[in-house]
Amino acid sequence: MKFETKLIHGGQSEDQATGAVSISVYRSSTFHQYELGGNPKWEYSRTGNPTRAALEALIADLEGGVAGFAFASGSAAIHATFSMYSAHDHFIVGSDVYGGTFRLINKVLKRFGLEFTVVDIQDLAAVENAIQDNTVAIYFETPTNPLLQIADIAAITKIAKKHKLKTIVDNTFATPYNQRPLELGADIVVHSATKYLGGHSDVVAGLAVTSDEKIAEKLAFLQNSIGSTLGPDDSWLIQRGIKTLGARMRVHHANTEAIIKFLENDDRVARILYPGLPDFPGHEVAKKQMDHFGAMISFELQEGLDTKKFVESLKVISLAESLGGIESLIEVPSVMTHGSIPREIRLENGIKDELIRLSVGIEDEEDLINDLKQALDKIG
Ligand SMILES: *Cc1c(COP(=O)(O)O)cnc(C)c1O
Repeated sequence: MKFETKLIHGGQSEDQATGAVSISVYRSSTFHQYELGGNPKWEYSRTGNPTRAALEALIADLEGGVAGFAFASGSAAIHATFSMYSAHDHFIVGSDVYGGTFRLINKVLKRFGLEFTVVDIQDLAAVENAIQDNTVAIYFETPTNPLLQIADIAAITKIAKKHKLKTIVDNTFATPYNQRPLELGADIVVHSATKYLGGHSDVVAGLAVTSDEKIAEKLAFLQNSIGSTLGPDDSWLIQRGIKTLGARMRVHHANTEAIIKFLENDDRVARILYPGLPDFPGHEVAKKQMDHFGAMISFELQEGLDTKKFVESLKVISLAESLGGIESLIEVPSVMTHGSIPREIRLENGIKDELIRLSVGIEDEEDLINDLKQALDKIG
């Protein structure tokens, strides 16, 4: 089955009890047991719910894993994944990770004794050099948020396997439509399904998928023990979103290409960060491991131009956090998504105060370009 067909028919595509083409929303916390002490398939919805299970089967199928797990948010999925480990376990983490992941690591996980070394994930020697006796896993995003840096998944998993480490990849920006890290040797993929998988900016959700049966057992145990599970209504919404992922991505990509061309030809734009650009540092690796380059663009305006006025002047593109929805969203990471990272660390990692991140939506391409143009005209 080709990927775009899998989006619609993958996992478990109809309701097992009724044959309903759209999986039912099983809004029930508990299930009647027909036999005392039997082994019922469903007993309590934190442990397992048929609507959630259908989503979990679907994402496992799309990522090429053995099992999927749905959580109340991407952050909850990431937290559950780190919860497989114990105090004094050491992780190598990419320097450019989602602001909330940075906060989870520094303000929560470190208090429980987990140890972290932050490295430039593009630098394979730095990754290998950071390995210690107690290192257990390498955690990174690619493309990263918001710098869109590219990590070489196959090369990193090779280093990881050599040292018996696990590799965990946050695949939110690429989605399995563009990139499937498990096929490249990763052990776990995590997602903020809030973004492209849901796709309509109407639900917060997280997913984790693994290619390893032992990890699957641990994640199932932790999902049930911690209890940060996704409810049936939201599980249904994410499934519905995934069905149109292919159709949406085609428009996201076409619009992105057009916007890149526009930005490249506007001299008020100083720098564009996009893995699809031939002179972008990660371009060759991106070409190797991604089917398309995605619909996230970061850019900087020429020095002295008013970033604040620019983003506030946009009329179609909305100034908002988040990404991956049908509507175009723009944000300034230093103030918004990455505001929780101390300024020195942010600058060290290359996130300037002026950096702008654009999540290209599926509106009409001309409307988006005209909107950018009128806002640029207001400032320079
Ligand atoms: C949004 C995001 C998260 C966090 O997901 P939530 O659903 O908001 O908890 C994690 N990683 C990346 C790359 C994200 O963009």
